[in-house]
Amino acid sequence: MDQVLEKLKQGILQFQTEVYPPNAEKYKKAATEPQQPSTLIVTCADSRIDPELITQSGPGEIFVTRNIGNLVPAYGEMMGGVSAVIEYAVSALKVRHIAVCGHSDCGAMKALLSPASLESLASVKNWMRNAEAALSVADSLAPAKEATAERLKRLTEENVLLQIQHLRTHPSVAGAIARKELTLSGWVYDIGAGQVRISEDGERAFHPVTARATKA
Ligand SMILES: [Zn+2]
Repeated sequence: MDQVLEKLKQGILQFQTEVYPPNAEKYKKAATEPQQPSTLIVTCADSRIDPELITQSGPGEIFVTRNIGNLVPAYGEMMGGVSAVIEYAVSALKVRHIAVCGHSDCGAMKALLSPASLESLASVKNWMRNAEAALSVADSLAPAKEATAERLKRLTEENVLLQIQHLRTHPSVAGAIARKELTLSGWVYDIGAGQVRISEDGERAFHPVTARATKA
């Protein structure tokens, strides 16, 4: 017996018996209507992140793409899955917001800080080129003596800001922003604290989401 698969099947059974029945109407409605997500979330593949849970979103509400390090290759670089998701979300689904969500203790960001760890991971090493400028910016802004934890936090934020810049190079995104149909934000999710800090309106600073800070 495949124990890993059995555990997954147990989860599916639990979903079918406990979660689905009280929400059946919601799922049936979602299945019969075209999806109209308001938001595209670009986040890390890290298994500790659950975009639907932290935003309390239901079926059809958020369009999500995940990869190592929540990276968005600039337009023309590495045309592939991420570029296609962005184009589809903006041009076909007409999402009105894109959030790039980084997180605490990100393995990809730690790898950027110690490149030797990527020597045996050729694909990951190649992919992480999309974040190299974030390391340059983070290091150029760092004080002379910065603790490792602070350096990682700074890099995580700079990476999110860099990926927002990359997003703007995509024609679908640039056009929608120009027409004021799309806004962008950067997030850092602190897994241990259960908190999300957000950079919005083009600001470089990230602010925690609090009841008071939430805009109407
Ligand atoms: Zn990560």
